[in-house]
Amino acid sequence: MSGNEDRKTTGMVFNIQKFSVHDGPGIRTVVFLKGCPMRCRWCSNPESQNSESELAYNKRLCLGTEQCGRCVAVCPKSAITASENGKIRIHREHCNDCPCDCAKVCPIQCLTVYGMASTVDSVLAVVEKDASFYARSGGGMTLSGGEPLLQRDFTLALLREAKCRHIDTSMETCGFVPWKDLHDACTYLDSVLFDIKILDPEKHFAQTGVPLKPVLENFRKMMQTFPELCVHVRTPVVPDFNDSKDVLLPIAELVRRYPNARHELLPYHRLGTQKYMFLGREYLLGEKTLDADLFRQFNRMYRN
Ligand code: SF4
Ligand code: SF4
Ligand code: SF4
Repeated sequence: MSGNEDRKTTGMVFNIQKFSVHDGPGIRTVVFLKGCPMRCRWCSNPESQNSESELAYNKRLCLGTEQCGRCVAVCPKSAITASENGKIRIHREHCNDCPCDCAKVCPIQCLTVYGMASTVDSVLAVVEKDASFYARSGGGMTLSGGEPLLQRDFTLALLREAKCRHIDTSMETCGFVPWKDLHDACTYLDSVLFDIKILDPEKHFAQTGVPLKPVLENFRKMMQTFPELCVHVRTPVVPDFNDSKDVLLPIAELVRRYPNARHELLPYHRLGTQKYMFLGREYLLGEKTLDADLFRQFNRMYRN
């Protein structure tokens, strides 16, 4: 694909976060792409999972249909009706292929849309604003999600064009993608953040909804094919899933086989739970919390 075509390629982006220091080297701009093949029960970005744009509703802020009701009046599909408690009810099954006028007319933004069609050019215009910070810190752009490679063409176009503009590139991946797509992305990447959550196939399937084998095969092929690539293997430590030495040490041992890889533990947090409510979805991990002392112990174990 030519550079001009790359610049016009369009994808679905739900957030661009600046000044991140946890998603690759230096100061980075993280571009979050919609769509993920996994359904991790602890996911803190539920708005990333579906490929299409989605409506979020903060009921607490809503003025109600008596005082406002603008969204009900403007919806072309009768997907919003008054509810018994004076607020609104969204019938999400009717809510697709729509320019989302309801969110545009809501006076207090309790209706918002996750996901916006964006071109490579428009995303890189935002990323390039912080070029001076990247130069000083060794940072750049990180693609995240969701799973960036679910939007393969957009992701590859973004990476190619970023390289043309001398921007350092990193990508977070869940690893459950076609090998060819991961291979092609790696040719434009300076570093990869590769998630390995657990090495038990049954538990992996039960908690993420996808098999483990393709993830590990992709990891092995990536490490063999790109021995110079800087790889950060990341493991979210989740209560009652993988929060034990017996589960974490074998992952650490796997990573240690490769001199260009390092392993990082990420503590489970509950920051995304409210977003499930906004999307009308249930948070499947309930009230579980991670024992902070235990997490510190795991981290110490890694330094020793
Ligand atoms: S997104 Fe469109 S269909 Fe859905 S509630 Fe809003 S206006 Fe109606
Ligand atoms: S437009 Fe916003 S504030 Fe008004 S009823 Fe709809 S959701 Fe509530
Ligand atoms: S892989 Fe990441 S983005 Fe996808 S469901 Fe799991 S936690 Fe969420």
